[in-house]
Amino acid sequence: MTLFFLFLKVSNYIRTLCHIILVFNTLIMLSDWINLNKTQKTNYFKIRLNKGLCKSLKTERNEDFLDFMELFKNHPDHDTKIQDVIDLSIIHNKRNSKYFEINLIKSNGIVEDISYRCCINERNAYYNLNSALRYAIEPQIQEFRDKTRLICSSCNSTENIQIDHIIMFKTLVSEFLKTFKDIPTDFDDNEYNGCKFKKDDNEFENKWCHFHKSNAQLQCLCLKCNLTKSKK
Ligand SMILES: [Zn+2]
Repeated sequence: MTLFFLFLKVSNYIRTLCHIILVFNTLIMLSDWINLNKTQKTNYFKIRLNKGLCKSLKTERNEDFLDFMELFKNHPDHDTKIQDVIDLSIIHNKRNSKYFEINLIKSNGIVEDISYRCCINERNAYYNLNSALRYAIEPQIQEFRDKTRLICSSCNSTENIQIDHIIMFKTLVSEFLKTFKDIPTDFDDNEYNGCKFKKDDNEFENKWCHFHKSNAQLQCLCLKCNLTKSKK
């Protein structure tokens, strides 16, 4: 009997130890690639992508799933891109079947491609500025949302309505930036894991908000129509 209890005690101990090692391993894996340089990061994810076709990364290759999801937080449009993603799949590249590409699977069944390279290359230069510019005009988007009937202007759906820029946001931004020599490069964090302008850049931010207010044309689009629009 005592031997049995001793055995139980030891096996419990081993189990706890295994658990600690597992958690530790996961932590290492998750943070492993974050400090790599651009080329190393690209290789790291290229290897994961080239492991081949996979219908559900979440169930079949969960480590890769977590890595990719972490990486996608750096996508320039991660707010809309990553919203409602429940799984990832790997398919043959549509243009060249020798290569693979990764797809986002959303909770409403919509499948959308995403470039992992885009999440590695552009975080500093493009992502931060874009994120701060979007954050700055968020109150305008909210105001529009509050006073508009939320019906898709393309298909009349009332589900998953998003506020869309009729003239593309990118186009507005590049028009606005043309008039500036000193564009902010340093930002504070906003509450959505993105960026906001620093207090020192208040004047720049106000000018941008004013520019956006007078030039942006907004409309309601459902998620489906919005995605098909952006792919054109
Ligand atoms: Zn629609």
